[in-house]
Amino acid sequence: MTLKSALMAALLPSMAVMLVPATSQAAAPMASQRQAPGFYRMHVGRFEVTALLDGTHPFPVDQLAFGAKPRETDKLLAQRYLASPVEGMINAFLVNTGDRLILIDTGAGDLYGKEAGGLSAALRASGYSPEQIDDIFITHLHEDHVGGLVKDGRMVFPNATVHISKRDYDFWTDDSHQAEVGALLKPFFPAVQGVLRPYIAAGRVVPFSEGEGDLIPGLRPIAAPGHTPGHTTYLLHDGKDAMLFWGDTVHVAGVQFDDPHIAIKYDWKVPGAIASRDRLLAEAVKNGWWVAGAHISFPGIGHIAAKGRNAYAWVPANYTLNR
Ligand SMILES: [Zn+2]
Repeated sequence: MTLKSALMAALLPSMAVMLVPATSQAAAPMASQRQAPGFYRMHVGRFEVTALLDGTHPFPVDQLAFGAKPRETDKLLAQRYLASPVEGMINAFLVNTGDRLILIDTGAGDLYGKEAGGLSAALRASGYSPEQIDDIFITHLHEDHVGGLVKDGRMVFPNATVHISKRDYDFWTDDSHQAEVGALLKPFFPAVQGVLRPYIAAGRVVPFSEGEGDLIPGLRPIAAPGHTPGHTTYLLHDGKDAMLFWGDTVHVAGVQFDDPHIAIKYDWKVPGAIASRDRLLAEAVKNGWWVAGAHISFPGIGHIAAKGRNAYAWVPANYTLNR
């Protein structure tokens, strides 16, 4: 035995005692399954943007994808160590313009049960309160984008004006259109009308028409019909800095960037949804826009890279504490 190995033999038993304490603190129960209220902040030109997490829920891609080749969604998901159902985000976004506080969408509120409704807590954690919101711009009238407008039948944002494209407003508030949609979308009519009701009664819903230019300085609506009749994206712009809040242009990042022609059964008109997605993906790459998505992994903010012929890659924002 060398001197060194003799020394090790002598030391090892006492080291083992040192490394494993006789009593353990690890018997404490796991504290909570939940994360902290989710917000993520950055700047776009003169604007402060805060992503807010309303909740997450399992999204059965295998049942809801439409137009994929056999096994295509499974294969694409497996490449990302994912499988259906994939946990989907419900993100909304806050913009402080310097003189107005605006929300892009409101999350699902109570309409998705325990899986959502975290937006107000995230908003407060980020330093603001629901009463401070001046304007809400809705991308489209689906439950997971407007459900957060009310809690127990009352307005969550009592001082806000709600802006909705006239095409979506006219469609979802008129029950005669129920005949045009399948069983999946029919329940959206009463749900959406229910959360809009107190705001309509208070005169706080303002439908806007396409082609009106900036709705407030620096925020321009860009129509992206297909997912819904009036599905609208919003371009926040200040000089060369810009972020596109694109609602549901991509539902499932794990498959639709690689193959933008995979649609989702929640789409009102599939060809229109695909055409809008193709156009916005190309525009976002060409202009180098930030993109903010409602269902892309929190904070749902990133860029898009072209990968080849009609294939793209999501490039998430690099996390920082200091923006
Ligand atoms: Zn959605």
